[in-house]
Amino acid sequence: MTGLYAGVDLGGTTIKVAIAAADGDILAQDQVSTSSHLGPSAVLNSMGDVIGRLKSQIAATSPLIGVGIGVPGLVDIETGTTKFLPNLPTQWRNIPVGAILQQRLGCPVRLLNDVRAATLGELRFGHGKREPQLTMAFFSIGTGVGGGVALKGDLWLGPLGAAGELGHQTIVPDGPRCGCGNRGCLEALASGTAIAAQGVRLMRSGLAPALHALVDGNADRVTTREMTAVADQDPLVHEALVDAAIAIGIAAANVVTILHPDLIVLGGGVAEMGTLLTDTVQDVITCRVGMFPTDQVRVERSLLGEQAGLCGAVALAMKAAHT
Ligand SMILES: [Zn+2]
Repeated sequence: MTGLYAGVDLGGTTIKVAIAAADGDILAQDQVSTSSHLGPSAVLNSMGDVIGRLKSQIAATSPLIGVGIGVPGLVDIETGTTKFLPNLPTQWRNIPVGAILQQRLGCPVRLLNDVRAATLGELRFGHGKREPQLTMAFFSIGTGVGGGVALKGDLWLGPLGAAGELGHQTIVPDGPRCGCGNRGCLEALASGTAIAAQGVRLMRSGLAPALHALVDGNADRVTTREMTAVADQDPLVHEALVDAAIAIGIAAANVVTILHPDLIVLGGGVAEMGTLLTDTVQDVITCRVGMFPTDQVRVERSLLGEQAGLCGAVALAMKAAHT
């Protein structure tokens, strides 16, 4: 069946939309401000507007046959209803997003947590493209730490679509409090937010002169990227990055012990740490998994980068149309 697919990545600040052909080629793409303060109805209206506008730009005669939406939180995947989007005003409890957009757009609409969608994207269009039987764990390490798991080429979602929350495994039993209520989660130790906080602390203590010079002493400009850029000059910044990478490595080693995957994929802004991250994670896996050889377990950065979520939403749109 010929037709077009729309993928939507709903974020706290922007809505990204892509229209794709049957082979997954993105034909048109745009993003608008979420303006989440206006409430779910206004956000969904604006989402429908962007999809309609992009579609009319490319081929008015080809019908839209599936829509996939990645959302930042918990969703009922059967009904397409949002359950809890912690970072959006009103938290979108029980909003029938799928039904509302299906009525407006006239085709099946499917919802999925955004990082599970990114995992699906990596599976269909990234590392999994040439390995259809891939078993993989995806860590999306940005403001928070999300995750997703694929077993032999299929996304593993569990009954609530919540399986694969890799960022909320305990790494340090009495560690810092996490947003989920637990203590010492990976997210509390090694999210982009947690890493930047360490960088700012070092800078303000006068222990990171190169970082201070790079950002003109402006704490708001400190991210993993800036810290990585000065890691050779500021030893304590280097140490903070390594500590975070070790925490991510411990989390990855736990996942390796359980799944024995082919691949651990690292995405999100913290992956910009580059080989310092991937090499450390690979070393920690080697050191901590003693029950079986792990030399076949690869650790790599996402091939899709910031597009992983949007590509995954397109893959989800294909599932919506054909299953
Ligand atoms: Zn947590």
